[in-house]
Amino acid sequence: MYGDGSDLRNVEALASRSKRKAITRVMVLSLIDVATKKKKGDRVKAYWNTYHCQNRIVTHDGKLHTTYCKNRFCTVCLSIRKATIMNNYLPYLQTWEDAYFLTLTVKAIPAYKLPRYVNGMLELFGKIIDKYRKKDKRRKGFALEGIRSLECNFNPVKRTYNPHFHILVRNREMGEILLTEWLTRFPRKHVSPLAQKLVKVEDRERALIEIVKYGSKIFTEPDLKMATRKTSRYIYVSALDNIFSAMQGRRIFDRFGFNLPEQRTPEPKQNFRILVDYENWLYTPKLFDWVNIDSGETLSGYQLTNELKDILSNRIDCDLQ
Ligand SMILES: [Zn+2]
Repeated sequence: MYGDGSDLRNVEALASRSKRKAITRVMVLSLIDVATKKKKGDRVKAYWNTYHCQNRIVTHDGKLHTTYCKNRFCTVCLSIRKATIMNNYLPYLQTWEDAYFLTLTVKAIPAYKLPRYVNGMLELFGKIIDKYRKKDKRRKGFALEGIRSLECNFNPVKRTYNPHFHILVRNREMGEILLTEWLTRFPRKHVSPLAQKLVKVEDRERALIEIVKYGSKIFTEPDLKMATRKTSRYIYVSALDNIFSAMQGRRIFDRFGFNLPEQRTPEPKQNFRILVDYENWLYTPKLFDWVNIDSGETLSGYQLTNELKDILSNRIDCDLQ
């Protein structure tokens, strides 16, 4: 067991952990099937790692200890990572009084083009940042400063993918430069000027949440036009596998043009700790909770909502991609 442990008294966090574990477990079992059919052994292995993530929990002295898979498709590990980024970046970003939020997209594409586009977008973005970094070095301009995340949505009606960058920049001028460079460097048939968006940030915390949210949406409305009506959402597993595969080994979240003044949240210590007076808990899928091996108690007491139960049992689509 590693780390200093999470606080057991935080009931809400425990419930949220159970919910995320339930979603991830069901999703990942289907991802394993999909990746097996596609004969992608490395992904099958990674998905199994996530399946085992935090199956065993040890509690001691009000703290929870477990091992984490740290994979991108694990919603439990992702939420921990998000919290770390928020803690590290928010104090600094709060000083950017003229911050702008920029969305850079390309036109929707079919699955087979996704890896090439993800590569191309990252490469092009890197080139733009480099150009201004060099200008700054030669004292002929300034470096662009911001944070960015790469995301991808799936459109189940058209069966297309929409990879895009969410970017927070220090000021409007930097946003305009990025936008102009993006539109000039990408052939017009691949990008539409109207699909790009540059808006002033009123709430920097909300903007940062938007950026660290996720690399891909887990739940998708079957038809976006119907989203105003109360429609059930689906998990499109094969499409998710395509997105995870295209983003494998890529830096989804990154900063450019600045360094953080100091590391505010230290990485969890990797010391091996020997725990005495500890209790053991095992994840029990039927209960969507961890069960104490000795007493039979449940850890979080979390109850799945009917909507989530319905999605996890009836709305997993493994074909559409
Ligand atoms: Zn995990």
